[in-house]
Amino acid sequence: MNIEQKIKQTIQKYKLCNKKEKILVALSGGKDSTVTAYLLKKFGYRIEGFHIDLGMGKYSEKCLSAVKKFCRDLKIKLHIYDIKKEMGSSMCYLRSAIQSKKSLKNCAICGVIKKWILNREARKLKADKIATGHNLDDEAQTFLMNIFKGSPELSANSGAITRNISDSKFIPRIKPLFYILENDVREYSQDEKLPVVYEKCPCALDSYRIQVREFLNTLSRKNRINIIKNFDKVSKRIQKDKNIKIKYCEICREPSRNEICKKCELMKT
Ligand code: AMP
Ligand code: ZN
Repeated sequence: MNIEQKIKQTIQKYKLCNKKEKILVALSGGKDSTVTAYLLKKFGYRIEGFHIDLGMGKYSEKCLSAVKKFCRDLKIKLHIYDIKKEMGSSMCYLRSAIQSKKSLKNCAICGVIKKWILNREARKLKADKIATGHNLDDEAQTFLMNIFKGSPELSANSGAITRNISDSKFIPRIKPLFYILENDVREYSQDEKLPVVYEKCPCALDSYRIQVREFLNTLSRKNRINIIKNFDKVSKRIQKDKNIKIKYCEICREPSRNEICKKCELMKT
């Protein structure tokens, strides 16, 4: 089965989206999210693009121009969120301010802030779903890291579609590339000559994640696919809360599991 067929199958099997819904694709400028948007569009879904300009110098400039070119070529409506304008400083600055108070990894901080922005802006744009470019290797990494931490249940609500959360302020997230190996995504993006930035984010210096990624890269395709097969088999059984109670953050009023959401918790002085 080629990657197009596999992605179609994932969309149908896990009921990720339908053709009436408005899907906001989180476009980073990298291969994964670009392929996600390219294929959703090719399959006839109603998509719009959303890019967060992280204000990180040359790297961000390259990402922004790749996303603009891609959306222009494919006639996809693009929304750009300028983090410096909206939040007062670049992601690098926000991160170092947070790290001066809390010892947290770069990617963890960036991930929390991006998710917060995506949910809020997708809701303002009346999107039904948010699509991200996470691929099988990303998901296998996260699943293994949670196992190594001794907490596989941290993976319980992930999957090709967010599970167990139903709240009008929460926009479900879908990952159409969940079952696609990173190498296959790269090859596809090259075959289709998509305008993509292949460099990794200069701030992705989370040494533990890199170590796990390097370990995964030593495994065969079959073994990596099997990690996700294991995830599918155990994920239903390790779910603790079948119906996650959503509260609204006391500071920003965004949906949260706790009184204060993860993003506000990070930014608290
Ligand atoms: P990452 O955590 O950088 O591996 O990114 C995972 C997914 O988040 C990507 O596939 C995109 O869908 C989304 N994403 C990452 N960075 C951005 C960005 N700057 N703007 C919009 N979406 C992003
Ligand atoms: Zn908050």
